[in-house]
Amino acid sequence: MNDTSPNAAETPEGTEADVVCHARGGAREFDVIVAGGGLAGCAAALQAARRGKSVLLLEKSNALGGLATIGLINLFVPMCNGLGKQICFGMADEFLRDSIALGYDTLPPEWRDGEPAAPTHARLVTRFSPWIYAMQLGEKLSAEGVEILFDCAVAQPVMDGSRVRGVVTLGKEGLRFRPARIVVDATGDADILRAAGTPVRTRGNYHTWLTYLATLESCARAAEEGRIGAVYGSHFGAGTVNLYGDEQPADVPLWSGLTAENVSAYLLRNHRETLGKLRALAAERGRGTFDIAQIPMMPQLRTTACLDGDAVFRYGEDTVYRHEPDSICAINDFEHRCHLFEVPYGTICRRGWPNLLTAGRSASADGFGWDVLRVIPPAILTGQAAGEAAALALDENRAVSDVTVGTLQRRLEEDRVMVHFPDSYIPEGRPFSFRGATHQSAPGHF
Ligand SMILES: Cc1cc2nc3c(=O)[nH]c(=O)nc-3n(C[C@H](O)[C@H](O)[C@H](O)COP(=O)(O)OP(=O)(O)OC[C@H]3O[C@@H](n4cnc5c(N)ncnc54)[C@H](O)[C@@H]3O)c2cc1C
Repeated sequence: MNDTSPNAAETPEGTEADVVCHARGGAREFDVIVAGGGLAGCAAALQAARRGKSVLLLEKSNALGGLATIGLINLFVPMCNGLGKQICFGMADEFLRDSIALGYDTLPPEWRDGEPAAPTHARLVTRFSPWIYAMQLGEKLSAEGVEILFDCAVAQPVMDGSRVRGVVTLGKEGLRFRPARIVVDATGDADILRAAGTPVRTRGNYHTWLTYLATLESCARAAEEGRIGAVYGSHFGAGTVNLYGDEQPADVPLWSGLTAENVSAYLLRNHRETLGKLRALAAERGRGTFDIAQIPMMPQLRTTACLDGDAVFRYGEDTVYRHEPDSICAINDFEHRCHLFEVPYGTICRRGWPNLLTAGRSASADGFGWDVLRVIPPAILTGQAAGEAAALALDENRAVSDVTVGTLQRRLEEDRVMVHFPDSYIPEGRPFSFRGATHQSAPGHF
């Protein structure tokens, strides 16, 4: 047996894991444990389950979807090239369509029935009801065989050298060791990677914290227009800084999001500042004319920590329109029309950590590349690839870095992922800009 494979299960006596395991009576081993039920984690869990693997999805909150649902970031950024060609397919397309199957949407009519026949500047982008979709995700994943534990935080991985034996969770039952053959870190903050000693990159966050405000006016407008989504009007909050850091207040630090103290300071400051704005509103319009309809139930932090992987996704003139031999998905730039990229497999794994994968916000990236890779559609696609890679590593009995990339790509293509974009989509002159002429800000605070 290849001793770096995920199936190499012999373990030394008397490790910390044994202690926890014996103390708690042990839990059953899963083929794949996915830590974190954001959209990346949901995609990873679903893909591994669809390949016949036993999958446990651990989520510390009470609903699935992560930032996209409980974090109130209920907007799929554009999934097309800005000229009418869809780029993000696979589970990104499946999840977008699911998210608007029951609740409201803002999908342009051009995209209602799939890719439009004629070129268009209308982008494939939509809002959705975060709470309805959160429940739909739980229903879908359960129906497809993923076991889900809510209110169950991963406290730490249990390591045997650089191989993960499983994770210790903290739930109502206390600490529990849960063994797994492969672990996918989809916590968004690289919680498991960091504890496993995997190299990571970190970045501070601008001051963003947005709620949904309902007013008598927004309710009247919703009734008049027959659009329930209009009740919430626009985002309302204290930190309204965009992803470029424009108008970052000089007296506010960049938030790391990596300690309870830092997250708490971020939340308390934003709560205080938001209450200040509400007091001003009350003075102007009268108490009882508005309410905070929804508050984000997780910190709205974009980039905290990500893997420093076998490959790093970068944004620039040298990477735009470039084919990557080990691509796991083609993605578009949500801010700049035409820009196309491919995401190397090495962004979700690191050689030397044989049974650990990541996806979503913690996939390996740098600079503005991190912003392009972390948003909802690419996060779903790296999640889908992580689930597929986990299944393949188990089938081939290899370390995750050593799976047969051609097989991985073929399987993803069979599941409708665009692994390589067609050359015909590369615009003449290969235009590239950053916040320049082709800058196409879509609605929202990405
Ligand atoms: C302010 C802001 C605006 C944004 N705007 C947009 C936008 O308009 N459109 C867009 O497409 N994207 C946007 N994004 C990005 C997008 O929301 C996320 O990057 C995307 O949803 C990727 O999610 P993820 O699954 O990787 O991580 P997350 O959504 O963060 O999911 C991580 C999940 O793991 C859980 N978790 C964390 N730690 C643990 C643990 N130890 N144990 C168990 N569970 C754990 C969390 O509760 C959460 O459910 C924005 C992000 C921010 C912060």
